Amino acid sequence: MPDIRPARVSGALVLNATYEPLCVVSVRRATILVLTSKAVCVADGEGILHSAMNELPVPSVVRLTRYVRVPYRTHIGLSRRGIFARDGWRCAYCRGPAETIDHVMPRSRGGRHAWDNVVAACARCNHTKGDKTPAELGWRLLASPHAPKGVAWRVLGHRTPDPRWADWLDMPMDSQQLAA
Ligand SMILES: [Zn+2]
Repeated sequence: MPDIRPARVSGALVLNATYEPLCVVSVRRATILVLTSKAVCVADGEGILHSAMNELPVPSVVRLTRYVRVPYRTHIGLSRRGIFARDGWRCAYCRGPAETIDHVMPRSRGGRHAWDNVVAACARCNHTKGDKTPAELGWRLLASPHAPKGVAWRVLGHRTPDPRWADWLDMPMDSQQLAA
């Protein structure tokens, strides 16, 4: 088993045999895929992995040698981190640093906990808004909330992508930050 202790590498992007991005796995997992010939390394990361048998560059992107059929998740699960990432960690009402999640139509009034009804918000705006709607306060949403989509979101979720993955993920990601 190789001694895998990369300093700053968090993961490796896995591509299907067709170069279609599939998922992100640990560097250890990607290395094992390469060592067992289940994948080939198409982009090196930083550093070299040493094992008793050989030396191998840390893989950053690997491509599977055999095509796998993957049923696509078309729906991206709603998460607190995902909302912050989508909204660029900025308040939807004042663009200040966001630290809370606001339901645009308050839950107390039937607002859903769904991508199109949640925004990142600063504590002040969230507190002031209370159980009112933006319209009742004369506020305007600085971006209309929607479910993130696209290959980058499907593969990465809220993960910060490695710049080396950009070629395979159609980056820059339009849905990554509303506040760009
Ligand atoms: Zn605010």
